[in-house]
Amino acid sequence: MPMSIQDSLEKIRPALQMRVSNSLARGAGVRENFQEQLGRLLDLLAQAVLSGDATWLDPLLEEWAAARTQTDLEEGERNLGGLLHKVAAHSFEIARESLDSPQAIELTASLMPIYLQAVEKAAELENRSRVEYLAHELESAQARLKKFDKSKSNFIAVAAHELKTPLTLIEGYAAMIGDLASRDNEQIHMLIQGTHTGIWRMREIVDDMIDVSMIDNRLLTLNFQPVWLNRVFNMLQADFSDILQQRKHTLEIRPFAGSDELIFADPERLYQAVKNLVSNAIKYTPDGGTITIDGRTLPGFVEVTVADTGIGIAPENQEVIFEKFGQLGDVSLHSSGKTKFKGGGPGLGLAITKGIIEAHNGSIWVESEGYDEVKCPGSIFHVLLPLRTQPSDPKLAKLFGADENLPAQLPDEY
Ligand code: ADP
Repeated sequence: MPMSIQDSLEKIRPALQMRVSNSLARGAGVRENFQEQLGRLLDLLAQAVLSGDATWLDPLLEEWAAARTQTDLEEGERNLGGLLHKVAAHSFEIARESLDSPQAIELTASLMPIYLQAVEKAAELENRSRVEYLAHELESAQARLKKFDKSKSNFIAVAAHELKTPLTLIEGYAAMIGDLASRDNEQIHMLIQGTHTGIWRMREIVDDMIDVSMIDNRLLTLNFQPVWLNRVFNMLQADFSDILQQRKHTLEIRPFAGSDELIFADPERLYQAVKNLVSNAIKYTPDGGTITIDGRTLPGFVEVTVADTGIGIAPENQEVIFEKFGQLGDVSLHSSGKTKFKGGGPGLGLAITKGIIEAHNGSIWVESEGYDEVKCPGSIFHVLLPLRTQPSDPKLAKLFGADENLPAQLPDEY
C-alpha cells in the first residue's frame, strides 16, 4: 500500500528535527529550547501540507518575528527566512534519503508551495520588524542628539554669562589704568587702546553666544518698529567704510522697489542680520572685490540679496553653514581679525542671522556655484522677509493710524 503524505511526513520528522536543530542551534540548552519551537513548526507544517493552506504557519511566524533575536543560533541563520530555507533543504534531503522515489517526489511537491509561501510571509514580517526597529533606532538617536544639542546650548549660555563678569572687570581696570597714566604717556594709552579692541571683540563673541542660546531656546523677542531698508543699508556703508577702504572692496547698494518703503521689523536685529552677511562677504572675498546689496518685492514679501565676488561655498556646505559652529575650512586659518580675508569668528554669525530672519517669519538661503579660491565664483545670500506694512503692536498702530494714514516718511531723527 502506498504511503500517505502524512505517513511520509511522520517518517522524516525525527531526522528533520534533529538535523535542523543540530545545524542551527549552538549549545545543549539552546538546542533544547529550539527543539520545542521546532516541534511546533513541524506540527503546523504538517497541518499546512495536509490542508494545502500555508497560513497555518502564520501565527507562529508572527510570534517569531516579534520575538527577540535568538543570538545563540548560528551566524547568518538568525532570520526567519534563513531558518525556513534550512528546514526546507533538510526535509528534501531526508525525503530523498529515507523514502521511495515516488513518495519523496510527492512529499517534495506538497512541501514546496508551503515553504515558498512561508518564506514570502517571513520576508514580509522581517521587513516590517526591521522598519520598526530602524524607526525606533532613529528616534532614540534623534533624542540623544537633541539632548546633546541642549547640553551644548546650555554650555554656551553658562560660558557666556561667566565670561561677561571678568570681561567687565578687565574693562574697568583698563579704564582706571588709562585714568592714572599721565596724558603724555602715549605708549600706555596705545596699550590700553589695544586692550579695549580685544575687549570689544570678546564682547562681540560673548554677545553672539548669548544670542545663539536665546535663539536655541526660542527666547529671542523682536521689537517691531517702522524700518526703511535703504536706511539700514546706508548705515552699513558708513559702519564698514574704513574696512572697505582697507580691503579695497566696493560696497554697492542698489535701490530697488521696496527698499524705500516703510515696513515693520526689528531694526536692530535686522541691521545685525544684514551686517553679519556683509561682514562675511568682506571676509570671504579677496581684496579688491565687490559686495552688492540688491533686492526686489514679491507678492507679500521683500527679498534682499547680498552678493560678493569671493571664494564661494561648495553645494554640500550650503546648509551646514547656517548651523551653529558651522565653520568651514581649517580652524587655524581663522585669524583674530573679523574682517580680514578668511578672518576669525566662532561660526555663530549665520546661525544668528538665520534665527533673526526666521523670528521675522522670513527665510534665508545661499546660492553659489561652489568653492574656488582662485576663480572666486562668489556667493549670493537671499533673505526673504514678509512685507509687513502695518505694525503688530497696538500702540504703534494707534501712533501710525490706519494703513492708509501711514506717513510716507518718518521724522529724520527716528
Ligand atoms: P564665521 O564666524 O566662521 O564667519 P559664520 O556663521 O558667519 O561663521 O559663517 C559660517 C561659515 O560659512 C564660514 O566659516 C564660512 O566658511 C562660510 N561663509 C559664510 N559667508 C560666506 C561667504 N560670503 N563666502 C564664502 N563663505 C562664507
